[in-house]
Amino acid sequence: AYWPSSGDLRVEKLSARYSSDGPRVLHDLSFHIASGERVGIVGRTGSGKSSLTLSLLRCIFTEGNVYYDGIPTSSINLEILRSNITIIPQMVPELLTGTLRQNLDPFDQHDDATLNNALRSAGLFEMHNDDDDGRLTLESDISSGGGNLSVGQRQILALARAMVRGSKLLILDEATSAIDYKTDTLIQSSLRNELKDVTQIIVAHRLQTIMDADKIMVLDAGKLMEFGSPADL
Ligand code: ATP
Ligand code: MG
Repeated sequence: AYWPSSGDLRVEKLSARYSSDGPRVLHDLSFHIASGERVGIVGRTGSGKSSLTLSLLRCIFTEGNVYYDGIPTSSINLEILRSNITIIPQMVPELLTGTLRQNLDPFDQHDDATLNNALRSAGLFEMHNDDDDGRLTLESDISSGGGNLSVGQRQILALARAMVRGSKLLILDEATSAIDYKTDTLIQSSLRNELKDVTQIIVAHRLQTIMDADKIMVLDAGKLMEFGSPADL
């Protein structure tokens, strides 16, 4: 069975730092995100948004507790943790080697119909590969660091991967670099349609992303300032 199966997240007194003796960049964050909720995280630059996303997968030094479906991450093998929860970082580094197929399904676990479906749903087939005149296919080579895909297109590819894997929880750190309108629309549409049953934690740099969020979290200087429905804030 796929874990986490519901996508419930509970965080208790979470603090974080980038090195064992470095300064804290997050201070005692506590919150609960229910299965299927869509949460937008906002805050000025340096407020700790990306650090929070990294803390949720124990990629930096953390104190406190994080539970997915009631299971503490401290009791879960890091590899299992990181392969079962989809995180799409701000820059999407090192994601791209080989073909589109290899990126979407690195362990060759899914059939073509599933992969093609995800690519179609995510809108990747609409995109042109700058290097050739053709449209992207599963066999398109997108290696060399994905230089021929924009950051936005790489995030779309990562969303397609989340669809293929059937992740119940998705953490997306929106790209800060300029994303063209069409790419942004594709990302928003995947989040609202194909991935609508997935718990979504989205660091938002665009107002449009969080307009219809169930909850908004406001961070400032590593502290949780507000957490509630948009109407209540
Ligand atoms: P932005 O909107 O610019 O993406 P952010 O809210 O994501 O900002 P973070 O990147 O989480 O902010 O930064 C929070 C704090 O952590 C800042 O003080 C920053 O300097 C520090 N920080 C971020 N990355 C590192 C790192 N790799 N090593 C040490 N400190 C870091
Ligand atoms: Mg950031």
